[in-house]
Amino acid sequence: MPAFPALNDRNKADRLIVVLGDQLDPTIGPVSNATADDVVLMMEVDEESTHVPSHKQRTALFLSAMRHFAVDQADRGSRVRYVERTDSHNTHSFEGEIARAVDACGPGSVHVTHPGDWRVMNKLDTLRDELGIPVEIHEDEHFVTPLETFREWADGRKQWTMEYFYREQRKRLGVLMDDDGKTPVQDRWNFDEDNREVFKQAPKPPTPYTPRNDAITDEVLDLVSRRFKDNPGSLDGFRWCVTREQARRALDDFIENRLKLFGTYEDAMWEGEPFLYHSLLSAAGNLKLIDPRECVRKAVEAYESGDAPLNSVEGFVRQWIGWREFIRGVYWVQGEDYPHRNGLDHEHDLPEFFWDGDTDMNCMRDCLGQVRDHAYAHHIPRLMVMGNFAMLAGVHARKVADWYLAMFVDAVDWASNPNTIGMSQHADHGVVGTKPYAASGKYIGRMSNYCKGCRYDPREKTGESACPFNTLYWDFMLRHADRFRSNRRMAMMVKNAEKMNKETRVELTTRATELRESWGIV
Ligand code: FAD
Ligand code: SF4
Repeated sequence: MPAFPALNDRNKADRLIVVLGDQLDPTIGPVSNATADDVVLMMEVDEESTHVPSHKQRTALFLSAMRHFAVDQADRGSRVRYVERTDSHNTHSFEGEIARAVDACGPGSVHVTHPGDWRVMNKLDTLRDELGIPVEIHEDEHFVTPLETFREWADGRKQWTMEYFYREQRKRLGVLMDDDGKTPVQDRWNFDEDNREVFKQAPKPPTPYTPRNDAITDEVLDLVSRRFKDNPGSLDGFRWCVTREQARRALDDFIENRLKLFGTYEDAMWEGEPFLYHSLLSAAGNLKLIDPRECVRKAVEAYESGDAPLNSVEGFVRQWIGWREFIRGVYWVQGEDYPHRNGLDHEHDLPEFFWDGDTDMNCMRDCLGQVRDHAYAHHIPRLMVMGNFAMLAGVHARKVADWYLAMFVDAVDWASNPNTIGMSQHADHGVVGTKPYAASGKYIGRMSNYCKGCRYDPREKTGESACPFNTLYWDFMLRHADRFRSNRRMAMMVKNAEKMNKETRVELTTRATELRESWGIV
């Protein structure tokens, strides 16, 4: 890591500009107009990889991307105060480092872009009172939807339906719209129906662009392997973009080689193929190495030039300006208690095999192996395999959310919590979805090749060889019958569960308990 000598020569600052580890865009926020009289503060604080036990690749990504950004800022002439992990004065907390920098540089004010986490937001609020100088929090212009716009959209609505939010986004931003600005191109908002093909009919997906590690990344990988050797996950095969230039190349590679089939195989899963046609851009997006507008523009250009079909382009656009912005809006507008909701009153622990993938369920072993090896799995394994399993097994929502926050390279609080607590665990009292994403082994069997090599039988629901997803699915319906009986979208499944004869119901409940016992989570 290069030193930043300019800082020691002239320590005093007009403004202290704090850049957090997930704010690495030099073109937005206060850092975009930093002058030679300002000091840019960046800090590597242990708190960030220890408040949840972060996957080694996630920690390495943040450190390497931050260091690249700091060097780039210094090259542009900014005065950078970069506090390394190994700095003996490092207090390893945000508030400690900001206070130390204020002491050293005596700025007139502190500036920071809106953080992505309630915990950090609260710390900044406390600092406001303690520092005795103004602390200004700037809107995060990375997102295409100001929080106020989301609030206005959500205000007074009984149900926040992503599909309606997304349609408003398309109109407001003029993306994939006819000339009248009101009608979607080809007169269709949604291609989800077309985007559920099973992978086996497809050609092998091209390998995604993988950046070559430079000296900064190598140094970070070495540091993480020593200092965080007991953290979960493997460092081998670290493949993530750590600069803006790399993120742009990854986007171009995706648009050229994988966008065409992105939509068609969006929901497919296949053993040994963790990436399929997905973009792998979420981590770059969440660290602000790539701008959502750029992702959307390039995809739309590919459609307009006839290089990619609308089902894929619309699917990709929906993820960026629909789901991603919706999820962020939910996180901030629902409020600080959101990450702590446990709406289904689940109380079990997370099975130990979530950390190492050591299980005899083929689907879980492959998906958990992807996470261990890549700190990544695409949306469907996250939602319909691992998340579905945890919900059916009755794991406490916060324990599930802590695992997701720890294990994924793209995990940041605003994105991880609504996806986990809301979409995946249905623990947010129905804000993100009106029904739980609960599915039996039948769904997994249909969307993947996992069941073929599995020791369990996807057609059975009770007994030792029955697929655990089936047993847990029906046990879930029975346990939550009162809760879901009057839910229009769940009533049929509850009825089917209750229609089973008493003997089968007892067998299901008994076997579900046995399974939990075997995983040590009762
Ligand atoms: P692609 O499939 O190529 O999609 C393109 C982009 O759309 C992504 O890069 C991402 O930026 C955005 N996107 C798509 N869906 C979502 C979504 N639901 N929420 C936010 N952005 C979305 N995404 C995160 O960025 N961070 C998380 O911590 C995270 N945790 C998740 C936890 C669970 C339980 C579930 C079900 C989903 C989670 N997601 C999270 C959403 C989604 O699974 C990932 O964004 C996606 O799989 C990332 O892979 P990709 O870049 O290849 O995405
Ligand atoms: Fe997974 Fe069940 Fe299929 Fe095995 S049989 S792979 S446990 S869904």
